[in-house]
Amino acid sequence: MELNNDKHCSWIHDLSPRTNIKSVDSKKECEWLIIGAGYTGLSAARKLGQLNPNQKIILVDAQLAGEGASGRNSGYLVDTTLNDGFSSSREVENYKKKSEIYNLGIEVVKNYIKEYQVDCDWNESGKYFASSKIEDLKKIINFSDTLSKLGFDHKLLYNDELSKELGTKFYNVALYTKGGILLHPGKLARSMVNTLPNNVELYENSNLINWSSFKDYIFCEFKNGKIKTKKIIFATNGFLKSLGIRINYNFPITLTASMTRPLTDGEFKLIGEPKEWGVLPIRPMGATVRMTKDKRILIRNTAELRNPFKMSDADLIKRSLIQKIGIKKRFPQLPENLIKSTWSGIVSRTRNSSQIFEKIKENIFVAGCYNGSGIGVGTLFGEQIAIKAINENSKEIETIERRNKPTWLPPQPFLNFGIKTRLMYERFRAKSEV
Ligand SMILES: Cc1cc2nc3c(=O)[nH]c(=O)nc-3n(C[C@H](O)[C@H](O)[C@H](O)COP(=O)(O)OP(=O)(O)OC[C@H]3O[C@@H](n4cnc5c(N)ncnc54)[C@H](O)[C@@H]3O)c2cc1C
Repeated sequence: MELNNDKHCSWIHDLSPRTNIKSVDSKKECEWLIIGAGYTGLSAARKLGQLNPNQKIILVDAQLAGEGASGRNSGYLVDTTLNDGFSSSREVENYKKKSEIYNLGIEVVKNYIKEYQVDCDWNESGKYFASSKIEDLKKIINFSDTLSKLGFDHKLLYNDELSKELGTKFYNVALYTKGGILLHPGKLARSMVNTLPNNVELYENSNLINWSSFKDYIFCEFKNGKIKTKKIIFATNGFLKSLGIRINYNFPITLTASMTRPLTDGEFKLIGEPKEWGVLPIRPMGATVRMTKDKRILIRNTAELRNPFKMSDADLIKRSLIQKIGIKKRFPQLPENLIKSTWSGIVSRTRNSSQIFEKIKENIFVAGCYNGSGIGVGTLFGEQIAIKAINENSKEIETIERRNKPTWLPPQPFLNFGIKTRLMYERFRAKSEV
C-alpha cells in the first residue's frame, strides 16, 4: 500500500531539509520497536529512551519522521471540542472525562516545549467555534452551559464584534474558548525528531509490510530488512487498520487543507489587521480556518473515506478549488489566487470518538485514534503508552483508562456504506459553512 504523503505541505516547506536519513536495510534486533514516528511514536520513543537508557530502542516510519499527519495538521492544540453530545447529564460526565484528557494533553506539550526550549509559534490565543447561521446559536448556548458547568472560560460573540476580531463578515455567531492554543505543527513534530534520546535509533522511508509474534519475540518485515524485537508499540494512527490492529474499532479518514501565501501589508490592511486566530466549525463538515502568525490563511474543509489513501496531484487540485471558494466567501476583498499549497493527511476515527490505548497481546501495545485532538492527546498517549509498556502506572494512565472505550464497528460493506452516508449527510448540513 502507498503510505507516503504528497510533498506539498506548507508547514513542512517551512522547515529545513533533513540530512542523515537511515532506512532499515539489514537484519536487526532490539528490546523495543516503535512503528510510526508522529507525535505518538516520537513521544513514546522519547519517554522509553529516558526510562531505559541502557536498552536498544528502534523507531521506524514509512516516510520521513513527523511528516505524516503530525507535521501537516491545522495546529490547534485543543482544550475543548464541540461535536459531542451534551444534552444529558451522562453526556456531560463523558465530556468531562474527555476534557480531562485534553487538558493533560495541553500540559504535556507545554512541559515538553518548556523543557526543550522549542520554538513552535506557540500562541495561547484561544479559539472560536463559529457559524454563519444564526440558527446555530441554540447549539452554542447548549455548549456554553456545559462549559460553564465544567469551569471553562468562554464567551459568546456576534456579528460586528466577531468581524472586528477575525477580519471577515462571514460569521454571525461564535463561542470563544480561552484555553485553546495555536501552534506550528511541523515545527513541533520536527523538534520531537531532533530531541530523540541517544539510545533511540531512527529508521525512515521503511514501511512495515508484515509482522507476527512467536514465543517471546515479534518479527517485523520491511522491504530491505527485518527487525526482531521483544516488545512493540504501534503508533501508526490512521494506518492501524491496514496493519491488522483493532480492525473492528477504527477506520481511516483523509483530510485535505490549503494554505495561502502571506498576505501583503496592503491586503492585511483590507481585512482590518486582525491578530492570529483559529476558527473551528459548529457543523461537523464545515471549514477549519486559521489566520497564522505570519498572515497566511489556512483552510481545511474536506474529509473523506478513500482507497488508496494517497491523493494524486489532480485530486488535490479539485480539493484546492473547494478551498479557494471557502477563502473567497470569507474574504471577498482579497485577490482570487492566494493559495500556495494543498496537501492531504490521514487520521483515524472511532465510532464514539474515543481513543485506543491498550496492550493488545503480551508485549504488544497500541495508542491512537484522536479524532482531531492528536497534537495534545497523541503526545500524552505516546508518553503514557511507554510507561504502561514497562509495567508502571501513573495518574495520567488512570485518567486515560477512565475514558469510554471505543465501540465496535460493523463489518464491510456495511461500514463503508454507513461512513459514506454519514459524511454525505454532514456535508449537506454544513453546505453553507464550507
Ligand atoms: C489536515 C489535518 C488537520 C488536522 N488538524 C488537527 C488539529 O488542528 N489539531 C489536532 O490536535 N489534530 C489535528 N489533526 C490530527 C492530528 O494530526 C493527528 O491526530 C496526529 O498527528 C496523530 O499523531 P500520530 O503520531 O498518532 O499519527 P501520525 O502523525 O499519522 O503518525 C503515524 C506515522 O506512522 C507511519 N506509518 C504508518 N504505517 C506504517 C507502516 N506500515 N510502517 C512504518 N510506518 C508507518 C506514518 O508514515 C506516520 O508518519 C489533523 C490532521 C490532518 C491530516
